[in-house]
Amino acid sequence: MDVSGKTDKIVIIGAGPSGLAAAKVFKERGIPFDCLEREGDIGGLWNAATETGVVYDTTFLVSSRKFTAFEDFPFPDDYPTYPSHRQVLSYLKDYAREFGLDQSIELNAEVEEATRIDGGWRVKIKGESHPRFYRGLVMANGHHHIPRRPDIPGEFTGETMHSRDYRSVSQLAGKRVLVLGAGNSACDIVVDATSVAKSVHQSMRRGYYFVPKFLLGKPMDGLIHFFEKFPLPRASEIGSTRAGTASSSARTRISAFPPPTI
Ligand SMILES: Cc1cc2nc3c(=O)[nH]c(=O)nc-3n(C[C@H](O)[C@H](O)[C@H](O)COP(=O)(O)OP(=O)(O)OC[C@H]3O[C@@H](n4cnc5c(N)ncnc54)[C@H](O)[C@@H]3O)c2cc1C
Repeated sequence: MDVSGKTDKIVIIGAGPSGLAAAKVFKERGIPFDCLEREGDIGGLWNAATETGVVYDTTFLVSSRKFTAFEDFPFPDDYPTYPSHRQVLSYLKDYAREFGLDQSIELNAEVEEATRIDGGWRVKIKGESHPRFYRGLVMANGHHHIPRRPDIPGEFTGETMHSRDYRSVSQLAGKRVLVLGAGNSACDIVVDATSVAKSVHQSMRRGYYFVPKFLLGKPMDGLIHFFEKFPLPRASEIGSTRAGTASSSARTRISAFPPPTI
């Protein structure tokens, strides 16, 4: 076996939020590691300048700043409750700088193959003639890179686009838009389309709760967290859940959506 002898190190694959967090913990604990990033820059899917970046112009966090930030590194005070993708990227770069991770990240280092061998991992990096050997491996390679397209029977001759390829409202201007699904990206795209498209429809295979980002001026995830920590008396909990469900179902009935199922 041809290895370069890095037997004491762990390899982290990816320098998005997960890879950076792993790198920071290893560094703090004195665990030797290499963090390998295939792109020429860090930030993972939040880096719109890279092939991995999947964010569109109008991407803002859907989780609030307080509950999204790393525990020991809050977002800057002047950031809004739901920061934009540019602010998230800048925050991630500040994080890497603050904890001195830059020196441990190898950019343009794409892992092509990782094989479990006795005592560790053999890792083949694109462009390197010899594999490297590591004693451990952290997969922080994300899961939004390859779009999953549903297999829908029938023939549709119009333009189709996966949200992976959506970048700006100009792609929707003047078009009759049908958005399939009701995840975060789908809902963002529906909202974007309403300002520029000729018409907008959304198709979903089951009912959903559409939760506002703010309730009574407070970020929704903060309220959920609060009630997890300080639960209401059981009767009030049941009452407010019923009221919330009833109001949400009423709204969906008005819009002819099926009632939420989960
Ligand atoms: C539009 C959108 C909005 C989102 N909004 C939120 C939100 O509001 N709140 C929230 O908590 N989450 C949100 N997410 C979820 C998102 O997955 C996480 O925020 C976060 O980016 C995941 O980080 P990650 O490091 O696991 O993956 P990624 O950010 O995908 O990073 C993976 C990294 O691994 C690298 N990599 C992959 N394969 C290799 C390889 N073979 N060799 C070397 N490097 C490799 C990639 O280049 C990339 O840099 C959102 C996701 C999307 C798509």
